[in-house]
Amino acid sequence: MSLLFLDIEADISFIDTKLLLEVVMVDSVLLAAPRSFCAGVEMAIKALAWMVQAFEPPVYCYHEIVHNKIVVERFENIGVVFVNDIDEVPEGMPIMLSAHGSAPEVIATAEERGSYLVDAVCPLVTKVHHEVKTRANKGYQIIYVGHENHEEAVGTMAVAPEVIHRVDSVEDVEALPSFSEPVAILTQTTLSQSDWEGVLSAAEDKVENLWQPSRSDLCFATTNRQSALINIAPYCDAIIVIGSANSSNTCSLVARAEETGCPRVYRVNNAEEVPNDLHGTIGVTAGASAPEEQVRAVIDTLAPTQGVKEVRLNNETVYFPLPRNLRALVNAIDSIGVTFGLDYDCRPRLNDRTMDASQVLSFLDEEDSNLVDEQREEVREDAISPRNGSSPAKVRALI
Ligand code: SF4
Repeated sequence: MSLLFLDIEADISFIDTKLLLEVVMVDSVLLAAPRSFCAGVEMAIKALAWMVQAFEPPVYCYHEIVHNKIVVERFENIGVVFVNDIDEVPEGMPIMLSAHGSAPEVIATAEERGSYLVDAVCPLVTKVHHEVKTRANKGYQIIYVGHENHEEAVGTMAVAPEVIHRVDSVEDVEALPSFSEPVAILTQTTLSQSDWEGVLSAAEDKVENLWQPSRSDLCFATTNRQSALINIAPYCDAIIVIGSANSSNTCSLVARAEETGCPRVYRVNNAEEVPNDLHGTIGVTAGASAPEEQVRAVIDTLAPTQGVKEVRLNNETVYFPLPRNLRALVNAIDSIGVTFGLDYDCRPRLNDRTMDASQVLSFLDEEDSNLVDEQREEVREDAISPRNGSSPAKVRALI
C-alpha cells in the first residue's frame, strides 16, 4: 500500500531509554496530526491557569475544564475545585465555566454568587447557542443531534428547552413527531462525521424544508482529527486513541477508527493502559482534550524499533483569545505590576500565543511552589472590581 498522498514529516524520536525494560517494542508508529489540544481547549486551559494565579485558592470551575483526568488533577493540585452543581460554589468565590458551554440559568447563578466570573466556553459552542436562540425566536422547532447528558448538549438544549428535541440516532429521528412549525437541525460540535451525516440524512427524509446552518456545527478540530486518523488507518495493525471516556471527540475518534476496519482499536487514558501484545505498525492519535505529553508517554511505551512518522493532514492556525473580562484582569494585573515597579518581563505570559497549553501545564507544575510560597506578593485586595458588586476579588501579583 502506498502512502504517496500523505505528507510524511521527518522521523520523530521520543523514545526514553530509561523505559526500555517496560516497553512493547512494536515495529513503527504512525502519528496522526493534527491531534491533541484544539484551540478551544488551549484557550480554556490558559484561562484557568490565569485564574489560579490571579486569585487565592480555591478557584471554582463549573464542570471539568476539559474532559481529561490528567489536566483536571493538575488543576486540582493547585487549588481548583471542580463542581457539577453551581450551587456548590460558596458565595463570593471566583468561578470559571468550562469550555463545553453552560446553561443560561447556570451563568446567571454564577454571576450572582461569584466574586469574579470567567466563562471559558469555546466560541464554536457559543455559535451553536446563538443558532438555537435565533431559530427559537423565529418560531422553529429544533432537532439537536447530541449525546445524552454530555455537558455541551445539556448547556445548548437549555437555551431553548421548549422547542428543542435531542436525537442521537436515526431511530430517534424516526420516533420524532410531525411538526407543523418550521424545523431546524443543529448539532453538538464533537460528533463523528458519519454519525452526523446518518442522522442528517434521516432528518432530511422526514422533514420538508429542513433548515440547517450553511456550514455544519461540527468543529474544525473534530473534523481534522478524524480525517487525519482515517488517513493513517489503512496502514495500521492497531490504533491507539488517547483520551478520556467522557470526551466526546475522543469517542468519535474511536468510532471512526473502528469504521475503517482496523482490526484492533483501543482508547487509553494513559501509557499504562497500552496493551502489551501489540505488534507491527501502530497508529496513534489523541482527542482534543488530551495533552501532548500523554502522546509522548504512549510512544515511549510502544518503543517502535523503526521509529515514528508523523503524518500531517494540515496545520491548524485557529487561535481563540482569552475571554474578554479575563483579558481585562490580566491587563489590570500588569498595570499593578508596573505601579509597584515590578519586573514586567519576568512574569509568565500565559496568554501569549507563543506558549501552548501543554507548556502552561508544565509551567504550573514546575513553578507553582515558587509562585505560591516564595514569590507571591499580595498587592491589594480589591484591585479588580467584581463583576456583580459582591465581595472584592483578592488579586495577587504574578512575580
Ligand atoms: S473540540 Fe471544537 S468545539 Fe470543542 S473546544 Fe475544541 S474547538 Fe471548541
